[in-house]
Amino acid sequence: MRVIVIGGGITGLSAAYRLFELSSIQNHKIEIILLEKQNRIGGTIRTEHIDGFLIENGPDSFITTKPWALNLCRRIGLESELIQTNTRNRNTFVVLQGKLQPIPEGFFVLAPTRFIPFLKSPLFSWKGKLRILMELFIPGKPKEDETLASFTIRRFGREALERVVQPLVGSIYMADPENISLRATLPHLLEMERKHRSLIKAMRKEQGRGKQNQSGARYSLFVALLNGMQTLPERLASLLPKDTIKLNHSVESITRENGLWIITTHQGNRFFADGLIVTTPAYVTASLLKGLDPDLSKDLSEIPYNSSVVVNLAYRREDISHPLNGFGFVVPATEKRNIVACSFSSIKFQGRAPKENILLRCFLGGSMQPKACEWDDSKIIETTHRELSELLHIKNKPLIMCVYRHIDSMPLYGVGHTELINRIKERVKTHRGLALAGSAYEGVGMPDCIHSGELAAESIASGLLS
Ligand SMILES: Cc1cc2nc3c(=O)[nH]c(=O)nc-3n(C[C@H](O)[C@H](O)[C@H](O)COP(=O)(O)OP(=O)(O)OC[C@H]3O[C@@H](n4cnc5c(N)ncnc54)[C@H](O)[C@@H]3O)c2cc1C
Repeated sequence: MRVIVIGGGITGLSAAYRLFELSSIQNHKIEIILLEKQNRIGGTIRTEHIDGFLIENGPDSFITTKPWALNLCRRIGLESELIQTNTRNRNTFVVLQGKLQPIPEGFFVLAPTRFIPFLKSPLFSWKGKLRILMELFIPGKPKEDETLASFTIRRFGREALERVVQPLVGSIYMADPENISLRATLPHLLEMERKHRSLIKAMRKEQGRGKQNQSGARYSLFVALLNGMQTLPERLASLLPKDTIKLNHSVESITRENGLWIITTHQGNRFFADGLIVTTPAYVTASLLKGLDPDLSKDLSEIPYNSSVVVNLAYRREDISHPLNGFGFVVPATEKRNIVACSFSSIKFQGRAPKENILLRCFLGGSMQPKACEWDDSKIIETTHRELSELLHIKNKPLIMCVYRHIDSMPLYGVGHTELINRIKERVKTHRGLALAGSAYEGVGMPDCIHSGELAAESIASGLLS
């Protein structure tokens, strides 16, 4: 039995590895072939090592509240290489009128769970604070789906949207909350309103429960890998049987004949398989499946994507006057700057910069600032350095400068995304031996991608073995 996986990002590699595990456990030999367009694996994950700096051009960590990435690291022997965030200064700043203001302690995305730090915070005006606290008394009117912006304004007011929700969530999805579906991106908030009416009340309860359950070894909210995130795809690749991964194989078309999948590459190779897992971005998958299922292809092509630029700049510590007493900052659109977010990489995680140096990782672009992706490297570096110098009081030029553009890399879950995905799932079921996986569908973070790759592998294996 042969299964082909298209795409060698974290989703494709997780799918291939899960197939390999299942084939070993169940004693049914599955031949796995992974076809990757580029001459490297990892997709969006890209670590570089330059002059003692560890540069993450893609993801720099993953969240531990979703178990799938942690579980995978354990299964492939990477648990000892997981590193936690620095135990000190675990706070994030928001830029307000050109100054970095810390998000008050106990403030989670849009709701305060501790009132004293919130009331003392200069991040909100008194009117804004009052409006946020009024959430405690606002009746619950959960909708089937609405934008994150309309939900935030309805429950917490416009200032909460502009000063925290837009920059915090916007910098994760590189998108405008006016275009993001609450149900598809932050379903637990919708659930909280349904169950508890007030999110402040619900979050305070959750906090209390969290404290009671704090026993045994716990990971910080985010973890990284000591030698960079690229370690994960590389380890997965090294554990797969030799010749599983075929680099420089760009898939051109997918057809089906006599119950077999036929995959043709731009290089002219043809592969035959009983099962097929497609993990390419939705717009690529749409074009690959167009001949086979035009309706499915049309639905896939309706998932929009955003582009962004990651800029890593390194400085001498002595050249930065700001105390860097946090993990980074986010910039509200109302500040009219180009940097969307900045992570103090070498403060957040150990081993990212040589001693006496600081590595800063900035995001530009996204749907709020799409032009930045079109600039040349020198304009991107000059703009990022200028804005960092203003915000962090930096006096000299950077020592290291790295620019990486992620073009059409981040799917945007708009209102109606959940229905669209349900429709896609139903269509996929009509094609025996086909599964789709990746960030386009039910979560963009690495744990979600790993989970979706593993589920795809399980459904293909069980379908073919039944
Ligand atoms: C800038 C940025 C920062 C991020 N930061 C974080 C973070 O800190 N933490 C986190 O959890 N998540 C983060 N994410 C999200 C997460 O990294 C991605 O969602 C995830 O890596 C996507 O993996 P994937 O395998 O689904 O897709 P991709 O990584 O896009 O992989 C798809 C693969 O398919 C290949 N391919 C495309 N077309 C073809 C073809 N025709 N034939 C063969 N192969 C093809 C591509 O070359 C690529 O290798 C970030 C995303 C971005 C863009």
